Amino acid sequence: MSRLVVVSNRVALPSLTKRESTGGLAVAVLEALEQHGGIWCGWSGDLISGEPEAIDILEDGKITYATLDLPEDDYEQFYNGYSNGSLWPLLHYRLDLVEYSRQNYAGYMRVNQRFAEHLRPLLQDDDLVWVHDYHFIPLARELRQRRCTQRMGFFLHVPWPSREVLTALPDHRELAEALLEYDVVGFQTKGYVLAFLDFVVRELGGTVEPDGFLYALGKRTRVQHFPISIETENFTELAEEAEGSNHVRRLVQSMGDGKLILGVDRLDYSKGLINRFQAYEHLLREYPEHCRAATLMQIAPTSRGDVLQYQEIRQELETEAGHINGTYADFDWTPIRYLNKGFSRKILAGFYRRSQVGLVTPLRDGMNLVAKEYVAAQSAADPGVLILSRFAGAAEEMDGALLVNSYDLAGMADAMNQALTMPLEERVNRWVRMIDQLQSFDVHHWCRTCLRAIEMVAVSQPNGDSAA
Ligand code: UDP
Repeated sequence: MSRLVVVSNRVALPSLTKRESTGGLAVAVLEALEQHGGIWCGWSGDLISGEPEAIDILEDGKITYATLDLPEDDYEQFYNGYSNGSLWPLLHYRLDLVEYSRQNYAGYMRVNQRFAEHLRPLLQDDDLVWVHDYHFIPLARELRQRRCTQRMGFFLHVPWPSREVLTALPDHRELAEALLEYDVVGFQTKGYVLAFLDFVVRELGGTVEPDGFLYALGKRTRVQHFPISIETENFTELAEEAEGSNHVRRLVQSMGDGKLILGVDRLDYSKGLINRFQAYEHLLREYPEHCRAATLMQIAPTSRGDVLQYQEIRQELETEAGHINGTYADFDWTPIRYLNKGFSRKILAGFYRRSQVGLVTPLRDGMNLVAKEYVAAQSAADPGVLILSRFAGAAEEMDGALLVNSYDLAGMADAMNQALTMPLEERVNRWVRMIDQLQSFDVHHWCRTCLRAIEMVAVSQPNGDSAA
């Protein structure tokens, strides 16, 4: 079996990896690395003022961790500038928030070049290289230019937008061309695959041939969807264990006879939190029977807190929650419990299990693992209802959810009312469909299928073209 080389912006170093706090992706990647042996390469987390001299190597059993310090300016342009200032909003359909400069694009390319330069000497001919996410789209091209012929696959964790949206980015063509340097390009959903193919066919003159490969600019690429998932069994166990925990007991006690609608999201503009609060207000207004009877608890830990747009959304949310609570609260009931802090996975699992409605309404989301965790955490005897935005990748699979349009406040309020009043039999039927799917297709299945697809491609030729 070939050695595996994983590249991602952040690396789950052994010193940081506690089983309970590690997300499913890191667990699955670590498991694959243990199995195949290999390298996990990424940013060290450290910023330096000069040039990075060498990549830091840490050996731990069969895994080598290769991490690179980055110059402050490079990182600012690569990470805050281009990755999160240009690509993140663009890929989430927020053209109004895209900030673009050629300088940041140059920084993004420079960091990709640095990684290619430092990774190349560590690679062996038969390695499988598996690159993650929008930070490293050009990495394969940089490696190929350094005569690396290994099999290379890419997986995009976030959405791939429609052609019209993508073309708003000045570098859209370069980025799409760079993706063609991988042997396999993986997306979360069929919809994103179709959007990518549409772009390559119409903008780059590519064709999809009967063998299922995409042919464009002399390259042959397998483009496929691999929906990421969670460690389903493990998460269900975590939720069962958490039932008796102090946190869950206190939550249940504080709710009395009331029902709980739960939202859990990083505080990000893509998550549609303002719309969600407004939809809940709509519920209280249009279905007053839920006043006092249904509380919304929103957990929203700060993310990218040093970025202005993220500070603004935090302020807007505080204002909105204050307005709704000011209008509808009573001396012994608060409609919205807004918690601007994070919780451990175990506590979250317990909270999911004891809430009657999981409210997952992003405006755009590559997949959304909270939706899957919510389902995995439910008890078979009395499962809650998942309300899920049609704009989350998870909507392609979770057919037992109440699907909503997260721009339609009245529609979301109707769905909340439907969820809060849904009979047990329907709740069970819907949940069984989703949990069956999650048990069959967990994160380990995702990891295996991605790696198998990369393993199956023929070894590339030194000129950068792939052999059939
Ligand atoms: N999460 C967490 N603690 C929190 C909030 C979220 O551990 O307080 C985890 C959550 O359990 C999930 C992940 O963060 O595994 C969020 O993943 P998702 O795909 O929903 O969204 P992302 O943040 O990747 O956009």
